Amino acid sequence: MELAEKLKAEVAARRDDLVALTQDLIRIPTLNPPGQNYREICDYLDRRLLRSGFHTELIRAKGAIGDSDKCPRWNIIARREGARAGECVHFNSHIDVVEVGHGWTTDPFGGEVRDGRVYGRGACDMKGGLAASIVAAEAFIAICPDYAGAIEISGTADEESGGFGGVAYLAEKGYFAPSRVQHVIIPEPLNKDRICLGHRGVWWAEIETKGEIAHGSMPFLGDCAVRHMGAVVAEMEASLFPALAEKRTDMPVVPDGAKQSTLNINSIHGGEAEQEADYTGLPSPCVPDRCRMVIDRRFLIEEDIADVEAEIRAVLDKVQASRETFDYDIRELHRVLPTMTDKDAPVVTAAARAVEATFGHAPDYVVSPGTYDQKHIDRIGRLKNCIAYGPGILDLAHKPDEYVGIEDMVQSAQVMALTLQDLLTV
Ligand SMILES: [Zn+2]
Repeated sequence: MELAEKLKAEVAARRDDLVALTQDLIRIPTLNPPGQNYREICDYLDRRLLRSGFHTELIRAKGAIGDSDKCPRWNIIARREGARAGECVHFNSHIDVVEVGHGWTTDPFGGEVRDGRVYGRGACDMKGGLAASIVAAEAFIAICPDYAGAIEISGTADEESGGFGGVAYLAEKGYFAPSRVQHVIIPEPLNKDRICLGHRGVWWAEIETKGEIAHGSMPFLGDCAVRHMGAVVAEMEASLFPALAEKRTDMPVVPDGAKQSTLNINSIHGGEAEQEADYTGLPSPCVPDRCRMVIDRRFLIEEDIADVEAEIRAVLDKVQASRETFDYDIRELHRVLPTMTDKDAPVVTAAARAVEATFGHAPDYVVSPGTYDQKHIDRIGRLKNCIAYGPGILDLAHKPDEYVGIEDMVQSAQVMALTLQDLLTV
């Protein structure tokens, strides 16, 4: 049998193990927030990867955003050296899952198998992908024990809340330095025949309009910050949203609606704080003197972040010109630059050949509308040769009755094993 066929057969033979591993991972509820059971899942992965001949390190992101003694941010990095010198291929998966939410018909932490799928919170995002990468690596090691270079597998904390206690921390410590790691694959649920090259940029900001408090029966004695904010929203509707819809990108972003610049108004709050649900009193009559809005602007690789910020300031300055007492502050909350790996990068072309060999057609190349841990690998780690590739359907992430297809996991693991063969058996 040809080597590629042997590898595929070896992965296929491990189907039951792949399912059991996915179930085990789902059954450790790693909810974030608050960041639960990270140590437990790292210990589980540690036992598994030690058995497969990996050298492992458990690393707590001590002092990182989110880390506390109650909910410590544990990460695992496992490395297995090959028989000779070569490059290192690293599979990075996040171990955290988002809240359960309503509407489930199965136990979110039960890992139930039904109709060829494994169900549970994190099944597709992304414990199925993590399991696929482990089984792919183990199958590859069994068939090609004399491979060159090294294989790394990491399970990292907090991707869902920015990755500061996970990949960002490890990148700061040099774990993604190009001298140590040459290829990174992040098994996020992008579908088994698609290669994700990167993501759009993010700019979050808080805008505050200012007014003056007064008695609500005499609003003319005060200055209503909520009305000022209303004027900001009206100006956004009139000029900003139409302008953003005009900005189209050449990045292959999916879904189609995200092929343009977008802005979400995350929240607006002005005036008296909301009371607890059991509060039976009435509100007090006051003119609100502060109103705050949080905006979430997603931008394109063709845009400059300075222009993104200037565009928002232009809206505020235009409103200011037409309202005598208008005063505002704006504060940046978060920024991530867009990133896109070159289609000719070695990890992209190797994964593309593996997709072709598994499915008989070339992959689709996509870019994610939102960010994921590639941002830290690129910006802090300075490693450009990175993609997201993994089983599962992105639309199911964070939804009730989340699942991952078993056949999809097997085929993705075959693609990952063939990618290892491509990069490490030369
Ligand atoms: Zn994810």
